[in-house]
Amino acid sequence: MSRAHKPNVIAVTRYQNFIGGEWVPAQAGRSFTNVNPADTREAVAEYPASGQADATTALEAARKAFPAWAAMTPVARGRVLSKASQAIEVRKAELAELLTREEGKTLAESTGEVQRAADIFRFFGGLSYQFGGQTIPHDLPGNLLYTRREPLGVVALITPWNFPVAIPAWKMAPALVSGNAVVIKPASQAPALTLELAKLLAEAGLPKGVLNVVIGEGRTVGSELASNAVVAALSFTGSYTVGHQVYLQLAQRMARAQMEMGGKNPTIVLADADLDLAARLVGLAGFGLTGQACTATSRVIVEKSVAPALVEKLISRAQAVKVGHGLREGVTMGPAVSAQQLKGNLEYIQIAVAEGAQLAWGGERLTNGDSAHGHFMSPAVITGVKPQMRIAREEVFGPVIAVIEVADFEEALAVANGVEAGLSASIVTRDLKKALLYTERIEAGVVKVNQISTGLALQAPFGGVKKSSTDSFKEQGVPALDFYSRVKTVYLDYSA
Ligand code: NAD
Repeated sequence: MSRAHKPNVIAVTRYQNFIGGEWVPAQAGRSFTNVNPADTREAVAEYPASGQADATTALEAARKAFPAWAAMTPVARGRVLSKASQAIEVRKAELAELLTREEGKTLAESTGEVQRAADIFRFFGGLSYQFGGQTIPHDLPGNLLYTRREPLGVVALITPWNFPVAIPAWKMAPALVSGNAVVIKPASQAPALTLELAKLLAEAGLPKGVLNVVIGEGRTVGSELASNAVVAALSFTGSYTVGHQVYLQLAQRMARAQMEMGGKNPTIVLADADLDLAARLVGLAGFGLTGQACTATSRVIVEKSVAPALVEKLISRAQAVKVGHGLREGVTMGPAVSAQQLKGNLEYIQIAVAEGAQLAWGGERLTNGDSAHGHFMSPAVITGVKPQMRIAREEVFGPVIAVIEVADFEEALAVANGVEAGLSASIVTRDLKKALLYTERIEAGVVKVNQISTGLALQAPFGGVKKSSTDSFKEQGVPALDFYSRVKTVYLDYSA
C-alpha cells in the first residue's frame, strides 16, 4: 500500500506565485489549501489566493521580458523547451504521484499525462527549427516576396483542472517557442503541476518574466487577464459558460481569442459492430479518467436490434471498474475532483430518472471503507434515454453513460448532431461506407472510427466546433503555432 493512503503524513507543499522569475506570495497575503479528493483528510498543497493586483504585476513582468525573448532565435528558444522536456521525464514518477494526489486520477493515467507533457515540450522544441515564413514567387523579376512569422507579445492562458499538466503544456509550449511572454492561471482545484512546469522551465534556462504563474479565482485573476490591454491574445480551456463570458471581454477590445470548451460526445454503435469491442471502447472512453475528460463518451447511440446485448456488456464493463484511491494498485477509476463535481454527477442521474430514463447500473455514492473520505461514485449506465432529455444534451463531466436507441444509421447521425456541442465523436462499425459517411457528416472537431472518443495525438490538430469552440484556431500539432504568432508580408525590390 502506498504511503499516501495514511492521511496527513506527507508534508504540505507551500507554493507561491511565479512572477518575474521569483516565487512570491499573493499581495493580499491570503492563501488556500487543496486536499486529496480520494481522501479529504490529506492536505496536498497550499497556494496563494491571488487577486487582480497579482495578475497585473505578472502581466507587467511579462511585458518587460517579452522583447529580449522575442529577439532570441526560435532555435535558441526551442532548446529551453527540449531541456525542460528531459527534466519532466526525469521527475515523471514524482510528478505523476503529485497529480494523482491533487486531482484524483489513477497513477497510470497521471503517468501518461506527465509523459504527454514531456512529449509536447520535445515536439515544440524540435518544431523551433521550422518556425519561419514562406517565400512566394513575385510577379516581377528582381523582387523577393516572403512572410515572417512573429510572436504576438504577452499571451494569457487560462486552464481547467481535469488535465492539469497536459493542457498547460500544450498551450505554454507553442506560446513560448513562438517568442511570446506568458501569464498562466491554472484552475485552483489542481495548480501544482503548472507551478512544477514553471520550476523546470526556469531551471532549463527560461529567462525571468517570460513565464508567470498566478494562482487565484477566475472572477479576479482570470477576469484581469481577459480585460487587461497588455494581453494580445488569450487561450482558454474550460466550460462553455465561462468561455463565453471571457470571449465577450476579449471581443470588446478585439484581442485574439481561442476558447476550447465542453462536449457531449457520442459513440455510435451500429448493428454490425463487434459488440465486445464497442463495450470496451465505451467503457474506456466513458469511465476512464472518471469521465472527467472533455472528449469522454457520454452518449451511446445504438441501433435497437443490438441495444439489449450492448447494454448487458456495458453493465459488465461498469461492474469491472475498480473504484478507489488512484495510488492504489489495481484501481481503474479515481474519485470526482471535488464534492461539488460529485454532487453534480449524482444530480444528473436523478434528473435523468425523473425525466423517465432508467438507471441500469451504478451511479451511487460510495462511502464504504477507504471510500468514506473521498468523492467516490460507481460508474453509471443509464438506459431508455431520449434525445430531448437533459442527460442527453448537457455535459455531466462524470462517469455516466446515457444509452439512446435508434432505428438506423440516419437516425443515429441526426441524434449525434442534435446537440449544441461538437468536440469528439466515435463510431463502431464494420461498414466502411457508413464509417466514411460518418466522418463526413458528423459535426465534431475530432472523429474516430473503431476507437475511443478520448485520446489525442499531440502532433495532430485538436479543437471543437459549434459551442465546443470558437473554432478560429486549432490547438496541438503544427497548426498550434498559428494562434501564437502572426504573419508579416515583406516585399523587397532588388531589381534596380
Ligand atoms: P471552468 O470553466 O469552471 O474553469 C476553467 C478556468 O477558467 C479555470 O482556471 C477557472 O478558474 C477560470 N475561470 C472561472 N471563471 C472565470 C472568469 N470569470 N474569468 C476568467 N476565468 C475564469 O472549467 P473547469 O471546471 O475547470 O473544467 C471543466 C470544463 O473544461 C468542462 O466543460 C470540459 O469539457 C472543459 N474542457 C475542455 C477541453 C477542450 O479541449 N475542449 C479540455 C478539457 C476540459
